[in-house]
Amino acid sequence: MGTELARYARQIIYPGIGEAGQRALLAARVTIIGVGATGSVLANHLTRAGVGYLRLVDRDFVELNNLQRQLLYDEEDVAAVLPKAVAAGRKLRQINSSIVIEEIVADVTPANISPLVADADVVLDGTDNFATRYLINDVCVKLGKPWVYCGVIAACGMTMTIRPGVTPCLRCVMGELPAPGTVPTCDVAGVVGPVVTLMGSIAATEAIKLIVGQGALNPGMIYADLWEDSFDRFDLGGPRPDCPTCGRHEYPFLNAEAGPRTTSLCGRDAVHVSVVGTQGVDLAGLADRLRAARVGAIQANPYLVRAQIDGYEFTIFPDGRAIIKGTSDEAVAATLYAKYVGM
Ligand SMILES: [Zn+2]
Repeated sequence: MGTELARYARQIIYPGIGEAGQRALLAARVTIIGVGATGSVLANHLTRAGVGYLRLVDRDFVELNNLQRQLLYDEEDVAAVLPKAVAAGRKLRQINSSIVIEEIVADVTPANISPLVADADVVLDGTDNFATRYLINDVCVKLGKPWVYCGVIAACGMTMTIRPGVTPCLRCVMGELPAPGTVPTCDVAGVVGPVVTLMGSIAATEAIKLIVGQGALNPGMIYADLWEDSFDRFDLGGPRPDCPTCGRHEYPFLNAEAGPRTTSLCGRDAVHVSVVGTQGVDLAGLADRLRAARVGAIQANPYLVRAQIDGYEFTIFPDGRAIIKGTSDEAVAATLYAKYVGM
């Protein structure tokens, strides 16, 4: 075994990987979209496993309340207010300097996602919202790229391995994009650290199996609730012929006919966020959840919910639109919307 391979000796000994599998890993390109909680676990495993080219895409920066579960970051990253993609790249190079890591600090949108995915062998979901996952699903199905969905909330996690044309896609299984405010988010419902590591580890193993071409892939959905000690697997059948993404090849999120839209409101230090192709918001339910999460001062009437959170003022309307005051940055507003309203 050459010195190049020596650091991977313990996984090369494993017959499922072997030297041929290691060479496949070193030749592989993986795009991880989102390097927060699950993305940290994915990037950590694939860096150590020797994936030769790792692209990290993230729109957010490191905050103190991330450290409870986002394993790549520390207090110095918080103090330096580093973007997550940058902080992750620094840490991962200390772990493995022999691979190529590309950091991209950006909000993934229909306009920029295709080149981020086009040269990847596998795409991994490290995001925290369904709007971005539906966009990933559209582009990966269109380009024929396998991708792994990985989501966590509270003490629960779920993961699916999506192989276009072979398995159902995310849209086949989840249907329409959930209405804003109906999906719990980690910022409102909380998250228990170890479930992140569990689900991220399953998803990272799926990526390794896809790359080396060995092992039994997850054919459906794996779901675990660590607090209730329940572990389940669901058979999801095959692709649905009537699916707008993998059946009819319409790709509504990639074509920006559905999903979030942000518009900076000139001179107002505010951004307007709307979500196209979904139902309205249950304002009373949203107000109750935000109050229960004690994120800030909440006012509600039948026409809007107003929330003061972290120095931002959210005004959310029944049709799902929101005006977020305190920033003119559309990516920041999209992140805040995903965190506190949820989509
Ligand atoms: Zn589908």
